[in-house]
Amino acid sequence: MTTDTQTDTGVSKSAVQRLVNRDWQLTTILADGLFIETDWNTGDKRRIRKSRCSCGKPVLIEYSTTGFRKDGKRIFYPERDYEGYHVFRCVQCRQPVDQTVPHAEFDYYG
Ligand SMILES: [Zn+2]
Repeated sequence: MTTDTQTDTGVSKSAVQRLVNRDWQLTTILADGLFIETDWNTGDKRRIRKSRCSCGKPVLIEYSTTGFRKDGKRIFYPERDYEGYHVFRCVQCRQPVDQTVPHAEFDYYG
């Protein structure tokens, strides 16, 4: 597939970038449940914390994202690790994750 073909289909550049195949590998453990992952395809790094909803559903928290949340946290599920995918309510218990997932609470600065 060429770039021209993608342009002809009307897919925007940003959409194409989101389709980049990510291959996140754990590269550094910072603390228990807190680690750095590196994308083998691009060299990008991200800081991830493992957490869990009060109902038991495993949740991951990514820090320093440029998403919806001003504190930069992205809450998502390990099985749905898509860029731009945010969880606001748990799929299992339907509660707001900022209240049921440790470390997912909103942090405000200043
Ligand atoms: Zn839950």
